[in-house]
Amino acid sequence: EQHYSNMPQFIQAVNEVGDDVARYIQQSEQPHLWRAFTVLTEPDRIIQFRVDWENDNGEFQSNRGYRVQFNNTLGPYKGGLRFTPNTKIDELMFLGFEQTFKNSLTGLPMGGAKGGADFDPKNCSESEIRRFCQAFMTQLAHHIGPDKDIPAGDIGVGTREIGYMFHQYKNIENEFKGILTGKHPTFGGSCIREEATGFGCVYFSEHMLAELGQNLNNKVCCISGAGNVALYTAKKLLQRGAKVITLSDSRGVCYFQDGLTDSDLEKIIEGRQQRKRLSDIDEVNGDYIKDEKPWQYSCDLVFPCATQNEIDGEDAAELIRHQPLAVVEGANMPCSDSALDLFEENDVLVGPSKAVNAGGVAVSGLEISQNRSRLSWEATHVDERLQQIMKQIHEQCKQHGKKGERIDYRQGANIAAFLKLSQALSFTGLLA
Ligand code: NDP
Repeated sequence: EQHYSNMPQFIQAVNEVGDDVARYIQQSEQPHLWRAFTVLTEPDRIIQFRVDWENDNGEFQSNRGYRVQFNNTLGPYKGGLRFTPNTKIDELMFLGFEQTFKNSLTGLPMGGAKGGADFDPKNCSESEIRRFCQAFMTQLAHHIGPDKDIPAGDIGVGTREIGYMFHQYKNIENEFKGILTGKHPTFGGSCIREEATGFGCVYFSEHMLAELGQNLNNKVCCISGAGNVALYTAKKLLQRGAKVITLSDSRGVCYFQDGLTDSDLEKIIEGRQQRKRLSDIDEVNGDYIKDEKPWQYSCDLVFPCATQNEIDGEDAAELIRHQPLAVVEGANMPCSDSALDLFEENDVLVGPSKAVNAGGVAVSGLEISQNRSRLSWEATHVDERLQQIMKQIHEQCKQHGKKGERIDYRQGANIAAFLKLSQALSFTGLLA
C-alpha cells in the first residue's frame, strides 16, 4: 500500500476486494492464498509513451499514452482504452485490477488490462481525433497482438475511434488481425458488442430482481451518463417495460417526468453519434437541469453508468431516503466507500461493476473467437451467449455471496473471481 500511496483509486479497488478475500482466507483456513492475492495486486507491466500528433493549425501536440497490462494468467490481456483529459496511471491501475477479476467472472480466457491517454476528444475536430488515434496506435502497436493484448473502447473511445486505430495498425503491420475489439461489424466486429455492456447490466438486474420475486415491468429507474453504457441500459430497460426517468452527463441531469420514450432515446443515440451534448439534443421530452445529479429522484432501481465514484456518501444518503431496491453498477466503481457502507447498512442491494458490466468484455471475448475462426455470428446467437454468461455470473455471485437469506453480490463476485484466478495461478508455480 505504501508503494502505491499516490494512487488512491487503485488502493480503493484493492481494499474493496481485499476485505472479502481476507475474510475468505481466514474462514477457509487457507493462508497460502495470501500469496495469490499479493501476485494479483501487482501489475505485470506498465507501459507509458508519448503521442505526438498535429492539430488543425498545423501545430504538433504531445499527449501521454498508457497501457497497464495487469495480469495474463487466464489469457491474453484484455480491457478498454480511455481518452479523457484526466486519464492517469492511478485510474488505469484500478481499472486494470478490476478488469482482471471481471474477465475471470466471464469464464472466457482473458487476462486483464486497461489503457488510454490524457487526450480530450471533446475539444477536438473530427480530423484531430482521427490523427490522434493514428498517432496513439503507432506507439501502442508495439505492445499489442491477438495473442498478447487486445484492447477495446471505453470512455471517449467508441466504434469510430476503434476504426481509426484498427486501420492504422493495418497500415503499420500490413496484417488484418483481431488486435482490437469493438470494431464495426462490417470489418470483423461482433454484432451486439455496442449494446453488450448496457444489455448485460439489465440482464443482471433481472436476475437480482428474480431473487426477490420481482421483475422489471413498471420499475422506475434512474440512470446516470449518456454514453454507450447508459444508453443501451436505457434501451433494454424500455424493452422490459421499465420507466427510465433520468440520463445525465458531466454538466447536469436530464429528467423525464413521464418517462423516457423510444423516440427520445433514438434521438439521443443519434445526437450522441454526432458528438452532441445531451443538453443540445432537441425535441426530447426531458428537462435538462444544469449542475444536478440524478440521485435526488424517487426510484426503484439505480443504474450509475457514467464514471468512478460518481455516487458519494451524500448522494447515497439522498438515494436511501427513497428506499430503492438495488443499485446496479454499470460504470466501473461508481460508488465511493462511504456510499457502499451506507447502502449495506440500509439493506440496499448493490450489483458490483465487475459482475454487472462484464457483458461488454464478454462479447469482446466472443468477437475474438469470431475473428480467430473468420466467422461472424448472428446477433441473436451473440445475444443468447451474452444472456447465458450474465446468468452464470449471477450464479457465481449467489454461490459465493450467500449471507443467510441475502446475497452479498460484491463478496460473491470478489470471491468467485479470486478463486478462479488463484487456482490458475497455482499451476504457474508462482505460489510455491
Ligand atoms: P462514454 O464515453 O460512452 O460515456 C460516458 C458518459 O459518462 C458520458 O455521458 C459522460 O458525460 C459521462 N461522464 C463522464 N465523466 C463524468 C463525470 N465526472 N460526471 C458525470 N458524468 C460523467 O463511456 P462508456 O459509456 O463507455 O463508459 C461509462 C462507464 O462504463 C465507465 O466507467 C466505463 O469504464 C464503464 N464500462 C464501459 C464499457 C463499455 O463497453 N463501453 C464496459 C464496461 C465498463 P460527458 O459527455 O459530459 O463527459
